[in-house]
Amino acid sequence: MKGLAQNFQLTLPYILRRADQLYGYREIVTRRPDKSFHRYTYADFVSRSKKLAVALKKLGVESGDRVGTLGWNTYQHLEAYFGVPCSGAVLHTLNPRLHEDDLTFIADHAGDKVMLVDETLVSVWEKFRDRVGVEHAIVVTESGEAPEGMISYEELLADADESDFEYPDFDENQAAAMCYTSGTTGRPKGALYSHRSTVLHSMMAAMGNTFSLTESDCVLPVVPMFHVNAWGLPYASVLVGAKLMMPGPHLDPASMLEDFEEEAVTFTAGVPTVFLAVLQALDAEPEKYDLSKMHSMIIGGSAVPKGVIKAYGERHGINVVHAWGMTEMSPIGTVSTLNSEIEKLSEEEQLDYKAKQGYPVPLVEIRARGEEGFAAWDGESLGELEVRGPWVASSYYEAPEGDDKFTDDGWFKTGDIVTIDKYGFIKITDRSKDLIKSGGEWISSVELENALMAHPAVAQAAVIAIPHEKWDERPLAAIVLKEGESATEEDLHGHLEKDFAKFWLPDAYEFVESIPMTATGKFQKLKLREQFEGYTPAQS
Ligand code: AMP
Repeated sequence: MKGLAQNFQLTLPYILRRADQLYGYREIVTRRPDKSFHRYTYADFVSRSKKLAVALKKLGVESGDRVGTLGWNTYQHLEAYFGVPCSGAVLHTLNPRLHEDDLTFIADHAGDKVMLVDETLVSVWEKFRDRVGVEHAIVVTESGEAPEGMISYEELLADADESDFEYPDFDENQAAAMCYTSGTTGRPKGALYSHRSTVLHSMMAAMGNTFSLTESDCVLPVVPMFHVNAWGLPYASVLVGAKLMMPGPHLDPASMLEDFEEEAVTFTAGVPTVFLAVLQALDAEPEKYDLSKMHSMIIGGSAVPKGVIKAYGERHGINVVHAWGMTEMSPIGTVSTLNSEIEKLSEEEQLDYKAKQGYPVPLVEIRARGEEGFAAWDGESLGELEVRGPWVASSYYEAPEGDDKFTDDGWFKTGDIVTIDKYGFIKITDRSKDLIKSGGEWISSVELENALMAHPAVAQAAVIAIPHEKWDERPLAAIVLKEGESATEEDLHGHLEKDFAKFWLPDAYEFVESIPMTATGKFQKLKLREQFEGYTPAQS
């Protein structure tokens, strides 16, 4: 027998309409590039998002078309987060830190029809604009002036009539947004979120044991809006009517601490690199800032050292919550909030739990596949983490070569090696994917190795991650030279420079006699990492 509840479709126009009806008075603040503040209300935001949807239609954007963005965390980017999917199109956020070859590939593969470019990122756009088939480039600038060949965002909105917008009724499984993720091998692959997955993810994110977001919060998303929808925070915040403090391009500790205090920020989230810098600034002047309003600082994307969680708690009274997720998961998978059993333990033991990546949020299921079947939830047995849930990818966008990341019974293989304990807390112990995470951004070891091995003097090159105080991980290249050939560190650096973004370039090149190999002829990265344990190149 079928239930008789209404078949109400979970779509982003619903969240926009809710904001329209209920939260018009709530504020959204943005740091402009010149550091001054832009302030407006949800009422303004809703009105402008509707205008954007209307304007896109006038430009010829149709349902399912992709609209790319190159932008920071700003109110205009938030308008795109809603205006684009509420027009029926698909929001595609691009990471401006990537190399132009990758940006070209990504914009091309996604088939972006329109590109919204923040005025501070026009130089990035210019590096690949002629290589992609984007029909309309829009510059997001308050001045209203557009460079040659671009449309002014403000003029576009000024020409759009809000009353032409009608809240659409569409299928909740329609695509809403997409993000590309760097693969272990091959080109980046797209995760394609639906309206339904985004609405459900937003509801989960706001829940008590996840991020505990309510209307009275002021949320400052440090995580960029081009990283997995800023971990879903813009959608979750608008759903509950929280105030938003958008930091723009200003993620230096001083600006952020000012924002935290001045705007009474209650919730913030980002990668360890940023919050390590904030901690140092706080430690240097502990009395300077009043952060008493902040209830949670979510840190994820890379492992947070236990010492950081402890230091924030003990020295500054800030509750750090560790979280884990992936682009393929919209991204939230596990959050390290404590349950009532763990709260009975000693402070030190509680801290051990807080330093783990956490337990699965509602509607996410996990299991770890070991060498002999699924690993027991005993906190010791190791396995590769597999996940499933309503906001987990079921395949990549037009990339069948990524199908091997999905199991036959429909789970997604994360590439993270974990233990799971009796409370379901995961602890990431290693990564099976050959990637390095530096300041929240991926670097592919394999791509660097291939490029290094294309150098005429290099016989073999293996790239591994070495721990770095500020950036978390940095690449180190172990090089075997061909007999009779010579190359210096500078030669190899120069060789890579032209093809890779600057942050990809290894911090160190070590010339070695040989690289440990497995029986099947692959580099034995684990052994190599052991060989370089404790290695400290010059910190940058
Ligand atoms: P991305 O798709 O760029 O969000 O990266 C997802 C990957 O980042 C995961 O599969 C992990 O390898 C890593 N990651 C994310 N959060 C954490 C965390 N809290 N601790 C350790 N690694 C993490």
